[in-house]
Amino acid sequence: MKNENAIIKTDFGNANGKSVDLYSIQFPNELEVQVTNYGGIVTSLKVPDKNGVMEDVVLGYDELQGYLNETPYFGALIGRYGNRIAKGQFELEGETYDLATNNNQNHLHGGIKGFDKVVWEVIEVVDEENRKGLSLKYVSADGEEGYPGELTTIVDYIFTPNSFEITYEATTSKTTVVNLTQHSYFNLSGNASEDILGHELTINASLFLPVDNTLIPTGELRPVRDTPFDFTNPKLIGEDVNATNEQIGFGGGFDHCWVMTEAPTAQIRKVATLSHQQSGRSMEVHTKEPAIQFYSGNFLDGTITGKNEKVYHQRYGLCLETQHLPDSPNQGQFPSTVLKKGETYSTATKYVFSTSN
Ligand code: BGC
Repeated sequence: MKNENAIIKTDFGNANGKSVDLYSIQFPNELEVQVTNYGGIVTSLKVPDKNGVMEDVVLGYDELQGYLNETPYFGALIGRYGNRIAKGQFELEGETYDLATNNNQNHLHGGIKGFDKVVWEVIEVVDEENRKGLSLKYVSADGEEGYPGELTTIVDYIFTPNSFEITYEATTSKTTVVNLTQHSYFNLSGNASEDILGHELTINASLFLPVDNTLIPTGELRPVRDTPFDFTNPKLIGEDVNATNEQIGFGGGFDHCWVMTEAPTAQIRKVATLSHQQSGRSMEVHTKEPAIQFYSGNFLDGTITGKNEKVYHQRYGLCLETQHLPDSPNQGQFPSTVLKKGETYSTATKYVFSTSN
C-alpha cells in the first residue's frame, strides 16, 4: 500500500563539515513537524487551532544558518547536562572535573559545543501510519566538553497525530554525570503572534528550587504555596511574572526548577498543562523526570528575527524542560545524576497537544 504521508527528507545544509537533513512529518489536519539531525532540533511544530487553522507553536529559524549562529537553544536536544553546574566544576570519585563556564561563571546546557550543536546520526526512521519519527545517535568522546567517559546517547523522537514523545538512553565507558532534556520554546498562540503571558499554566509540583543571583539552586526545596511560583492550579503566566519577589528578580521572571517527586518515576505521568484560550490550543507535559524547568523566555529581547520574519521579543516563547535538578553533581541531597559504566540512563518525556473551543 502506498504510504500517502511518508516522511520527506530534504537537504538542510552543512554543519561541522557534514551534511544535515530536514525531516518533514505530517498527519493530515493534525501534527505537522520538521526536525533536523543537527542538534536534534525541532524546527517547526504545527497544530490546529479551534478553527482548524494550522500554525507553528515553536520558535526557531527558517534556515540552518540561524541555528549555526548564536541561538538560545531553540528546539534543541540538550546534553550532556541540561541546566547549570556551578562554576563549571564538580567532583566525582575523587577527581575534580572542569567544564566550560559559558553562562557567567557557570556551566550551562553542556558547554560550548553541547549536544545542541553536534550532528546526530539518524539510525532509524519510523514511518508508520500513526507513529513517525527518528532515532538519533551521538557518541560523545571521553573528555568532550570536560566530561568524563565516552557517552553513547540514543534519543528517539516519535510523533503521533497529537503528541511528541522523546525517549532517551545513554551508556558510558566511565563514571560520569548525565541530565538530558529538550529545549523547544512554545507559543501556542501560533506563529509567535503575541507574548506567552496570556497562556495559562499548571505545574503539578508543590516545591521549587530557589536560586542565587547566578541561577544556581541554593539547595533549599521551597514550598510554592503563597508564592508567585504556585502553579498547582491553572494560572496566567502574566499574573505573577513581574511580582515583587527576590526569586522573580533573580530570574528576570520565571526561570526556575519545579520539583515534582524526590526521584525519577518508572511510569511517565502528567506534570504540567499549558493552554491558550484564544486559539483553543493546549499542551500537556508528561515525564518520568523528577523536575521541570519553566523558563518564561525572559532573555529574549527582540534581537532575534525568527521564522517568517517574526521578531522574538521578551517572553515570546517559553520552555518546559523536564530534567533532574540543576547543579546535582554539587548537591548531594538532590537525586543523583551519576551514570556508571554498565548502567543505562533511561528516561522519557512527551508533549501532548489538543484543541478545544
Ligand atoms: C535557562 C535560561 C537560559 C535559557 C537559554 C534555559 O533553560 O533556564 O536561564 O537563558 O535556557 O539559554
